[in-house]
Amino acid sequence: MSFQNPVFIPGPTNMPEAVRQACYMPTIDHRSPVFGNILHPCLNNVRKILKSESAHVFIYPSTGTGGWETALTNTLSAGDKVLAARNGMFSHRWIDMCQRHGLKVQVIETPWGEGLPADRYEEALTADKNHEIKAVLATHNETATGVKSDIAAIRRALDAARHPALLFVDGVSSIASMDFRFDDWGVDVAVTGSQKGFMLPAGLAILGFSDKAMKAAGTATLPRTFFDNADMVKGYAGNAFPYTPPVGLMNGLKLSSQMILDEGIDNVIARHHRIAEGVRHAVRAWGLELCARTPDVYSDTVSAVRTPEGFNATSIVTHAASKYGVALGVGLGEVAGKVFRIGHLGSLTDVLMLSGLATAEMVMADLGLKIKLGSGVAAAQEYYRGNAVAAKAAA
Ligand SMILES: *Cc1c(COP(=O)(O)O)cnc(C)c1O
Repeated sequence: MSFQNPVFIPGPTNMPEAVRQACYMPTIDHRSPVFGNILHPCLNNVRKILKSESAHVFIYPSTGTGGWETALTNTLSAGDKVLAARNGMFSHRWIDMCQRHGLKVQVIETPWGEGLPADRYEEALTADKNHEIKAVLATHNETATGVKSDIAAIRRALDAARHPALLFVDGVSSIASMDFRFDDWGVDVAVTGSQKGFMLPAGLAILGFSDKAMKAAGTATLPRTFFDNADMVKGYAGNAFPYTPPVGLMNGLKLSSQMILDEGIDNVIARHHRIAEGVRHAVRAWGLELCARTPDVYSDTVSAVRTPEGFNATSIVTHAASKYGVALGVGLGEVAGKVFRIGHLGSLTDVLMLSGLATAEMVMADLGLKIKLGSGVAAAQEYYRGNAVAAKAAA
């Protein structure tokens, strides 16, 4: 008997049993047409999930971090300038990667808990008369703080400044769970990974490139071998990779991306919003606050919950794991010890979410926080009761 509970961390996320089965497959010849029957549906499904007609989709054996590196090395040269805002741990790490690649990063320091300041992007871009900035980095959903940002507004900032820089978006914890519009927002590179909205184990970097970003490879001199899109393009043309593809994971992606499209991408987005709203009702009923400062930036995939001054929020996570066998997320970087995170993305339902909220209440009561058992659960129940969507039997 296994007592496996669902996880409530913002990635890796829970896996539907059918997806797990799809990853577990016999060896095939990855240089045979059989692999093409896995590869091409993955590429086409991902393009649809990005809401793009024309994005060049790439799948690398890697993670989201390798996706960032793919974005940078295929488009930029050492000494190039990029513009980025830092409002959490993930935007910070992307900036750090740029610096380690010899890029000059103009950083817009932004309080953790706030979204990307489109007005300050516009100011910086307008001031850059010589167009030295080659790329603009935007983290769509800051997983450390539970803050989403308005990517359309960043595009408008570029357009208002009449600036030709490429727009790179980290959508690792938003794509396939929150509204993401590659074409409408004029995104040049979108980055995600397999272990969040796609409900798979970690192991794939998943990207979309615009035509403009593809052209940038012609002049980009940052060294790239494993992550060279040009090699990948040649490989895909022959139903192959330039090296051995992670076939099982990609077979899982073929299924999970199809499940997302079958549910309907907008229904997936609505489900994530509904589940997240229930969580936010619970947090309010507990008398606690989110790290995200204003409702317009509330993330629908992760909530970072502030605990009272002097309380070590990390103890919630260790206690939940040791006493109840449930995984919640720790605070990272500046908000380490100050917040705990509830992941609510991927393969989840209202009912599963209630179990996570109930567990968080037991943990907080155990640790002496003044939380009335059932208070958050009841608030979420009321919300879910009023917003239920008729259940379909699992396929
Ligand atoms: C998880 C995450 C990453 C890092 O992805 P890995 O797959 O762990 O390399 C990057 N950005 C955001 C916003 C994330 O949530």
